[in-house]
Amino acid sequence: MSDTTAEGVRDSENPCLSCGACCAHFRVSFHWMECASAKPDGVPDELTTAIGPHRVAMLGTLAKPARCIALEGEVGKTTRCTIHAQRSSPCRDFPASWWETGEHVPECDAARAGHNLPPLRNTTPLSEQIPPPTASEAPS
Ligand code: SF4
Ligand code: SF4
Repeated sequence: MSDTTAEGVRDSENPCLSCGACCAHFRVSFHWMECASAKPDGVPDELTTAIGPHRVAMLGTLAKPARCIALEGEVGKTTRCTIHAQRSSPCRDFPASWWETGEHVPECDAARAGHNLPPLRNTTPLSEQIPPPTASEAPS
């Protein structure tokens, strides 16, 4: 998810910096103990709403069209998460397709498609790509 820091530190190759689609597509929910009221570097409580006895969601992500309250900028152009250092685990754990892990992430494609953005391409050279498991290697 949107990966620009509040201080504006940028990695020019990170596709999330010119995207932000997943922050304006999915419901972003997590355990309330990820909030600042439970830990010093947690998500500011005032940016969340309770959705159950133990879970909260980022404001702006419960209904369509979704847009997280912490997202700044224009999706598909330049975006940043205004609480980057305090963002929740689903935000930290959401990978961009082909980026970092080298794996295809259909949910990234879906978020981008929701904003009329094309899926990210696999730019890893063929010689360096990890082939999918053969039938005999695949877990049963
Ligand atoms: S939809 Fe994919 S590329 Fe866009 S910000 Fe999210 S993870 Fe990054
Ligand atoms: S908290 Fe930040 S990374 Fe998470 S959905 Fe909102 S803008 Fe995106």
